Amino acid sequence: SDHALAYPCSPDAVDWSVHYPAFAASGIRSPAFADVGCGFGGLLIALAPLFPDTLMLGLEIRVQVSQYVQDRIAALRATSASQPPASEPSAGGSAPGPYQNVSVVRANAMKFLPNYFPKHSLAALFFLFPDPHFKARKHKARIISPTLLAEYAYVLQPGGVVYTITDVNDLHEWMKAHLQAFPLFESVSEDVLRSEGKGNILDAVWNSTEEGKKVQRNKGDKWLACFRRIEAHREA
Ligand code: SAM
Repeated sequence: SDHALAYPCSPDAVDWSVHYPAFAASGIRSPAFADVGCGFGGLLIALAPLFPDTLMLGLEIRVQVSQYVQDRIAALRATSASQPPASEPSAGGSAPGPYQNVSVVRANAMKFLPNYFPKHSLAALFFLFPDPHFKARKHKARIISPTLLAEYAYVLQPGGVVYTITDVNDLHEWMKAHLQAFPLFESVSEDVLRSEGKGNILDAVWNSTEEGKKVQRNKGDKWLACFRRIEAHREA
């Protein structure tokens, strides 16, 4: 249970410089990518070097698993710091060292997302191989539901993208149906996202997570569905 967890009362109360100390000097900001139920962190680790200026946060409810990700990031930062840079920094300055842009919190994302992320702050929100909660009476425990979609729309910036992938077809249909029905989201195809230069994100979504690799090893199917947070004409 998450009763013992401490949560920031609002995004203003989060000290992001603790998560991204190397960015503190250049003006700290809240993360732009969020991986909900990040598990062992495979997506974050894959994306971090591809977007060195983009701050990314994983949210994971399991204590040991979030601790594992935290240790993994610390080790990657330490290893990278002890290695000479691959190239000389350019005149305009370069991003802080590798993996400085990625962090994790232990949090129940179904309850506290708006406590971490300001309104319209996220460019990407990932739900990769979420727990399926097969039984109908447990569907309210699913990470995609009408109530939660309002929160996801709130934290995403217009134009931001929700990425979902699962090996459970029933859950795929469920997530698609709910996102489709929600007025602030519209379906966006993989081809369109690739044409916008998001191919490396999609490759990581398909292949980089621990759960995705397990499905691959077992030769299971994967279903992807992506949605864009649209600009509302009349929004309060
Ligand atoms: N996304 C990872 C991957 O693809 O390898 C992990 C997938 S795993 C099946 C689902 C993860 O979501 C688990 O690590 C679980 O602890 C986490 N989780 C479930 N409910 C959560 C919640 N409400 N908030 C944060 N994490 C949650």
